[in-house]
Amino acid sequence: MSQDTFANHIAGAWIAGGDATPNINPSDLNDTIGHYTQASAAQTAEAIEAAAAAFPKWRTTSPLVRFEALDRIGSEILARVDELGDMLAREEGKTLPEATAEAHRAGHLFKYFAAEAYRATGDAYQSLREGVTLDVRRDPIGVVGVITPWNFPLAIPAWKIAPALAYGNTVVFKPAELVPGSAWMLSDIIARAGLPEGVFNLVMGAGAEVGETIVNHPEVSGITFTGSTPVGRRIGAALFARGAKMQLEMGGKNPLIVLEDADLDLAVHCAIQGSFYSTGQRCTASSRLIVTDEIHDAFVDRLCAAMKTLSVGDARAPDTQIGPVASAAQLAINQQYAARAMADGATLAAGGGKISSNTPGHYFAPALFTEVQADAAVARDEIFGPIAAVLRVPDYEAALTAANDSDFGLSAGIVSQDQARIEHFMQHAEVGMIQVNLPTAGMDFHAPFTGRKGSSYGAPEKGSYCREFFTAARVVHAARGGR
Ligand code: NAD
Repeated sequence: MSQDTFANHIAGAWIAGGDATPNINPSDLNDTIGHYTQASAAQTAEAIEAAAAAFPKWRTTSPLVRFEALDRIGSEILARVDELGDMLAREEGKTLPEATAEAHRAGHLFKYFAAEAYRATGDAYQSLREGVTLDVRRDPIGVVGVITPWNFPLAIPAWKIAPALAYGNTVVFKPAELVPGSAWMLSDIIARAGLPEGVFNLVMGAGAEVGETIVNHPEVSGITFTGSTPVGRRIGAALFARGAKMQLEMGGKNPLIVLEDADLDLAVHCAIQGSFYSTGQRCTASSRLIVTDEIHDAFVDRLCAAMKTLSVGDARAPDTQIGPVASAAQLAINQQYAARAMADGATLAAGGGKISSNTPGHYFAPALFTEVQADAAVARDEIFGPIAAVLRVPDYEAALTAANDSDFGLSAGIVSQDQARIEHFMQHAEVGMIQVNLPTAGMDFHAPFTGRKGSSYGAPEKGSYCREFFTAARVVHAARGGR
């Protein structure tokens, strides 16, 4: 058991003291990774004030300085991907290959946004009035609050913190309570990158205390949040009330459509990868498999056979394909939804239920439900576990209607060889991201990430599109040559 205690980073200093909560390995509940200091509301306010004090100078820093700091952070992350990946797998339960790939992505996100510091340009317009110049400039917005979920504890903070800093904002970072280890290691790397005091601050702790302090503080100009839809909507209402900016990435209930002309092996691969890898704990997971009648039985048979070969176990064991569920609370949610699906008349075709492994952990066998009704909770709610619901439909038109019949609109996939239907789907699926003959999860990190309906609100994340959130336009008209 580790006795180490990890502190918060406020105004350029590591601040110990206060309560510290244990970080427990979900693959082995006897393994305590460390203790992580919970910031108080007063310390959170200090971090915000430090970020506000650092902003005037940081916003005018040369892009070269911002490039060098972010590039240095990216280089250290990339040099330590194995160590970071090991921490991520140990505290969150993602398998080592998944966790290491995430660390790698985080490193490259810092490199990408390092270079974005050079590209923070404005626009020159020709004025409609003679003798007048017209420029649109981009200003950083000020102190940015970064509030993140537990399922991507390196990549999501990276794709929020890096652009915030690149465009000249200062940052107060609140990671999810469940996974402070990866966040702390990332923060330690950022804190040693040569940023001026107060430009970056880490405050670990509960949403109700640390999170709400950030959301409600008048010196915080905007919040970039990723998490559940109910929490995102609550935060959004508070930010709207005080006129602050927001970028909200929230839940998903992503459909994967399998049409009768699909390559069955590919369809099964997409379903296994999209529904169950990362233990189904991805906002882009395929939790609804919408399958046309003609291929339904063959698809379900082949999928069930493939599910039997999945090895569920310790996230860091070499042969594990599906790690544990991240927490006891999430395991209980999975169990409740599995029981409710049965009560609602669905058939459990494969898996389901808590299972044991070599170590005491939150292990759950990936579950497949068939004969699911469109209004059943398992078909409508985001569960955030390795549970997929198969919806049987007569044809493509019904599949599209079922896919769009959701409060969410993040990612949607289609497996088919019919180009006309694929094109139709690309145009009519009510989502932000589409995958054709690919799993619904897995996005390129330099492209925008965005959803519709209950999944997203505000400017997209990642890529150059996120500049819309991290900067504000300033339109300058000037009479040429004075008067
Ligand atoms: P969550 O909403 O419970 O928590 C997210 C973050 O918000 C945490 O840091 C939490 O402490 C904080 N928080 C909670 N209450 C708060 C409050 N009142 N004020 C301020 N902050 C508060 O989500 P989670 O369980 O950590 O993560 C899972 C959710 O995240 C799922 O819904 C998943 O779909 C979503 N997610 C979305 C994306 C995306 O890009 N769309 C990516 C990953 C995860």
